[in-house]
Amino acid sequence: MSVRVRFAPSPTGYLHVGGLRTALYNYLFARHHGGVNILRVEDTDQTRFVEGSIENIMEISKWAGIEYDESPEKGGEYGPYTQSERFDLYREHAEKLIQNGTAYYAFDTAEEIDAMRQRQQGAGIAPKYDRSTMRNQYTLGADETARLLKENAPHVVRLKVPLTAEVRFHDMIRGDLVFSGRDIDDQILLKSDGFPTYHLANVVDDYSMKITHVIRGEEWLPSTPKHVLLYEAFGWPVPQFAHLPLLLDVNKKKLSKRDGDVAVEDFRKAGYFKEALINFVALLGWNPTADREIFSMEELIDLFSLEKANKAGAVFDRQKLEWMNSQYLRTLPDDVLLKDLMPLIEEAGYKNVSEDYALKVLHLVRERITKLNDVPRFADYMFKEEYETEEEYFKKHWTPETAERVKNLVPKFEKIENWNAADLEALVKAEATEIGVKPVAFIHALRLILTGKS
Ligand code: GLU
Repeated sequence: MSVRVRFAPSPTGYLHVGGLRTALYNYLFARHHGGVNILRVEDTDQTRFVEGSIENIMEISKWAGIEYDESPEKGGEYGPYTQSERFDLYREHAEKLIQNGTAYYAFDTAEEIDAMRQRQQGAGIAPKYDRSTMRNQYTLGADETARLLKENAPHVVRLKVPLTAEVRFHDMIRGDLVFSGRDIDDQILLKSDGFPTYHLANVVDDYSMKITHVIRGEEWLPSTPKHVLLYEAFGWPVPQFAHLPLLLDVNKKKLSKRDGDVAVEDFRKAGYFKEALINFVALLGWNPTADREIFSMEELIDLFSLEKANKAGAVFDRQKLEWMNSQYLRTLPDDVLLKDLMPLIEEAGYKNVSEDYALKVLHLVRERITKLNDVPRFADYMFKEEYETEEEYFKKHWTPETAERVKNLVPKFEKIENWNAADLEALVKAEATEIGVKPVAFIHALRLILTGKS
């Protein structure tokens, strides 16, 4: 069997880091198995559509190095797919289910549905469409149903969930799962405006695009029994499912915007390397080996296995991301770093800085910072003629004797032959010994003069 997977985002705004993980796992899985990775835009809910989100997803994928196959420009048949361009296909399929008795017409108004929910809540039962009392083709009968359809009365198409059924499926991460038909709602498949719901479009597409593995976030797990029933209703084979663990904050609560940035775009703007973000996100819920944490995309592809993914929620530890980024700051090739660094220096307003100089500054400070865009701020003294002095630091280390001592040091500096860290240090130490002070008296004074900061 050749592997075919898809990333199926809804264009409802920014790409969440959880979305990036889903996209990445699909990509890693496809590449690991020499399979195909498809991008499918799930925009059936047009009320939630946000202009620009598709472009944003494609742009970020490109930046992150996640590739999609079979796009039209590559001569492919499958995508990037847009569901809103395929509505006829879903309608035809809803029709098929009506024909074979696994779906039915329902004519209830929004008020009637509300009243039903209130009745159910009042009686202490979980709200669920009540097929036996509401206005649908079973309670109205064939003639009345035909009449209403002919009249174009507003209606939806619902899935007829077998009440006594047990829906079983295997999840590659969670194992064997079973849901009772009693707990599954008669899901709307086609809305009254004729648009399909996510469930119908998702299943029709996964089947027609020959998707072998559905890899998605845990929040979709409650939908999966409905999908399994839909596959069965169509008489189609069910794909393999893998539901990825939730992302949690450090307090083990669901990761939310309140904890800080969650949009991939924000991490990119904040100056994280794509290598670091990909590495970090890859390890949210999966870890190939216990003894290391830094992996390139090639290594991730090589090692990836869904069977090794965790069930338990994955903690989104921002400090770890910082650490990871600082690792890449130390190891990424100079030309890669320079390409990103030069615009940052420019943006900070420093003109005519040569690449050679920028690189030297970077090498000097990179052990002390975590992100590339820390450079212009942290090392401002390397780019400016005048810079602020930290008040506290100055008060602490500048004594009445300091200026005189440093002045005496200057001619000695001028005579030094090899201008390097070791010889400079030796000189400063020797001077300190000579005048009977600790080297630290010079170290802070010189740092104050040269950088202004602690
Ligand atoms: N459109 C869904 C989303 O926004 C996709 C869920 C799935 O992969 O089936 O995440």
